[in-house]
Amino acid sequence: MEAALKGYFGYSTFRPYQREIIQKVLDGRDCLVVMATGSGKSICYQIPPLVTKKTAVVVSPLLSLMQDQVMSLKQKGVKSEYLGSTQTNSSVSNEAEKGTFDVLYMTPEKAISLPSRFWSNLQASGICLLAVDEAHCISEWGHDFRTEYKQLHSLRNLLVGVPFVALTATATERVRQDISTSLVLCSPHVVVGSFDRHNLFYGVKTCNRSMSFISELVKDVSKRSDVGESTIIYCTTIRDTEQVHEALVTSGIKTGIYHGQMGSRAREESHRSFIRDEVLVMVATIAFGMGIDKPDVRCVIHYGCPKSLESYYQESGRCGRDGLPSICWLYYQRSDITKADFYCSEAKNETQRKAIMDSFMAAQKYCLLATCRRRFLLQYFGEEWNIDCGNCDNCTAVKNERDLSKEVFLLLSCIKSCGGRWGLNLPIDVLRGSRAKKIVDNNYDKLQMHGRGKDYSSNWWKALGGLLIAHDNSIAVFSLAKEESITERFHLNASKDYLKETVRDTFRFVSPKGVK
Ligand code: ADP
Ligand code: ZN
Repeated sequence: MEAALKGYFGYSTFRPYQREIIQKVLDGRDCLVVMATGSGKSICYQIPPLVTKKTAVVVSPLLSLMQDQVMSLKQKGVKSEYLGSTQTNSSVSNEAEKGTFDVLYMTPEKAISLPSRFWSNLQASGICLLAVDEAHCISEWGHDFRTEYKQLHSLRNLLVGVPFVALTATATERVRQDISTSLVLCSPHVVVGSFDRHNLFYGVKTCNRSMSFISELVKDVSKRSDVGESTIIYCTTIRDTEQVHEALVTSGIKTGIYHGQMGSRAREESHRSFIRDEVLVMVATIAFGMGIDKPDVRCVIHYGCPKSLESYYQESGRCGRDGLPSICWLYYQRSDITKADFYCSEAKNETQRKAIMDSFMAAQKYCLLATCRRRFLLQYFGEEWNIDCGNCDNCTAVKNERDLSKEVFLLLSCIKSCGGRWGLNLPIDVLRGSRAKKIVDNNYDKLQMHGRGKDYSSNWWKALGGLLIAHDNSIAVFSLAKEESITERFHLNASKDYLKETVRDTFRFVSPKGVK
């Protein structure tokens, strides 16, 4: 094992868990490996073939990812090839079944469509493992479900006695269970490494208006590119991608763009110029991602709330792979809550819709957090992590908390008194003492809370409403965003029962469609 690590990869020691996993695979045991991006999972399936002189088959979701890996393995003297779904040339698969390759990559589509003759021939030549990379794609509860992954279990019957190794960087308990069940893993050796990426700083910037937000972003990015550091900016939609790209280019920053509606040539070109440091800034949809093995990205910015913490963790994790301090900013707008509908539109059934909704609400919570963000993330992924990290915006900011129970009660009872039909804006106008026609016509100016909320701006009240929705009534400490991304922190005494009651009654109509 050591000889292979040194001889082919040039490393003299294994990273945590690598040796243990390789040993289990050599013993013929199934494994489920959950380790952070950049922790060195690939070596776990690349070394066994070099030790056993048998082929390792690796199922991987993306062609570009496989191409990169194959190229880099070939350079190291490891015999490697890939089988894509659309390949008609059968010479690779003819070679493969003779056991020519150490590491043979294939897409899941290919894996399930190869004839059983292929597998029996390969088994006769020698196969040491079947690895399923990005295994969270198996689960509908994961953030990147792919149908073909679900069918991989059919390989189980064709490859009797071959250890299966499922690998992923992000998996909650539920997803882990799904992976194990779906691949019919046989009492797998489970390794869950720490997800902590200690060199990454986490932070959220909050803002109301997208224009001032973009100028803040431009400032942020230009600071970094001036000193030669790379940044990736992830946007939710292609429209945002284009808008942010244009703003950066206009202010003279050389910026690449990458999204699914570009041709594959243009995308490859864009990818390459970023890897080669010809452009330091890349604005992209999440289509830009898996397989970017650029070690020195210094910052990942998410422009808009991501659809889940799983995907956030994976995407933001693309900076600082070299272990040096790097930054993950999330630019959040209160109106991001409306993205729920956008994300839910991908759902094919009720289970999926519920899963997408749950994941999205967790991401919202992260955005509005006033406590340690790392702690929240790691606990979300099931780790016992009970200390504040000292390396996120909330840990480093000066605390400024106060009890907001009174204001919350005022807002909620006003929504209720207005009959709960108006959303947020009208009740806020009532609180602020408006005598607009609609208000007078409905006698809302006679309510006792009319004008009682004059001390706060209407944006302030909207922020409070947004926070309550995002936190569902269960969380005690809120951070409240003011305009221009200054964050103040407040405290809500959630132990007061009257609040809980009112919150529960009120949410249905201030929430966008689908949020309970
Ligand atoms: P993952 O698949 O978990 O995201 P990779 O397998 O791509 O991570 O590994 C990340 C980086 O760490 C790669 O550049 C790899 O060469 C390097 N690496 C892996 N194992 C070791 C090791 N034992 N010693 C030093 N570097 C390693
Ligand atoms: Zn922290």
